[in-house]
Amino acid sequence: MNDEISIRLYSIADEEWISLQPNADFRSTDVYICPICGTESNLWTMNGNKPRIYCQLDLYIEHDKLETAQKNYLALIMRLKNFLGRKEEKDLIITEKGLLAEKIDLLHKMLEGRDDLIIVNSKAKINENYPFSRYNMSKNIWKC
Ligand SMILES: [Zn+2]
Repeated sequence: MNDEISIRLYSIADEEWISLQPNADFRSTDVYICPICGTESNLWTMNGNKPRIYCQLDLYIEHDKLETAQKNYLALIMRLKNFLGRKEEKDLIITEKGLLAEKIDLLHKMLEGRDDLIIVNSKAKINENYPFSRYNMSKNIWKC
């Protein structure tokens, strides 16, 4: 517990990270939420002279599956919006949309509750931040 007290929090907006060494890990004052899986984190890494935040779940194939399912779901909603085809075809799209919604729910449940927050003030601002992927070479299969 005493170790945590010595951890300094850095403001991203005020560029307090500017003097950190390349590859240094640090914690931010604000919370950042992954728009794909909803995981919250304040762990950053210096990538050269720029701070980057990663979603810790982005190293799993399921995170990619969730992102793809979300994109496909939105595409189906757009398709239904201006749909002029036959009713049978529309029903098929609606069925596909329902199946995708179930898949998204399942993947969300699998990945939820993995927040990575240390010493966050209860008044910390929560920002949405698309994670920079450093795991694009090889991904793991989720094990839980
Ligand atoms: Zn994520």
